[in-house]
Amino acid sequence: MSDEKFQIKPEVEKAIVDFRENQKEKSFSSRHPELGKMVKCQVCSRRHRTFEICLQTFAKDKNEIELVAKGYGHGKGRRTRHWNKRSLELVDLTRRLILFYSNGQDDFKKARSRALNLLRKKWHARSVRIQRQQKLSRRINRG
Ligand SMILES: [Zn+2]
Repeated sequence: MSDEKFQIKPEVEKAIVDFRENQKEKSFSSRHPELGKMVKCQVCSRRHRTFEICLQTFAKDKNEIELVAKGYGHGKGRRTRHWNKRSLELVDLTRRLILFYSNGQDDFKKARSRALNLLRKKWHARSVRIQRQQKLSRRINRG
């Protein structure tokens, strides 16, 4: 009786074999759909899966009330202020240049000053281009 009960039907067995065969060909993400998508998180600036939820933390006053909640918007309530565009550019380029230097604090300074030099050239070139354009357009407008 019990033997008959636990007998696996050939259809079921076939389904199991098919499933195992399919699993071999699938990618990691399709074998584990429960993990969710990989995203570039704007809050923690890492790449991680969607099930990991990051929350922004804001600066609090002495009564533990978030400054954002009290109406300090536009970055004033942030624990870490937003950086200006040029500082972000410098950080980004330094991070990319540091790969070409061996480790060490001195090398970090070297990489940063190299990045700063490159960016200063870029920023200067941009302002020269704008000044030239301005000069030309003012000459045209003068008639
Ligand atoms: Zn995150």
